[in-house]
Amino acid sequence: PYVVTEPCIKCKYTDCVDVCPVDCFTEGENFLAINPDECIDCGACVPECPTEAIFEETEVPEKWAEYVELNAKLAGTW
Ligand code: SF4
Repeated sequence: PYVVTEPCIKCKYTDCVDVCPVDCFTEGENFLAINPDECIDCGACVPECPTEAIFEETEVPEKWAEYVELNAKLAGTW
């Protein structure tokens, strides 16, 4: 699945949510998370993200590795 990372915090844009074909984003107060059980790996959200916060799970930069778990936790699947 794709994963939302740190640059998303307080971003406020939701263009990624609008393009997701399976509606798998969860909106928190200042962060968006992707439900890893529902993401179909289409990649449509990546170019929509103005802060380049979204990565495929295996390509998440090391410094943001914890976000893989965080997305699952916020989406309620972990
Ligand atoms: Fe949704 Fe596709 Fe992004 Fe997964 S990769 S969160 S299915 S838009």
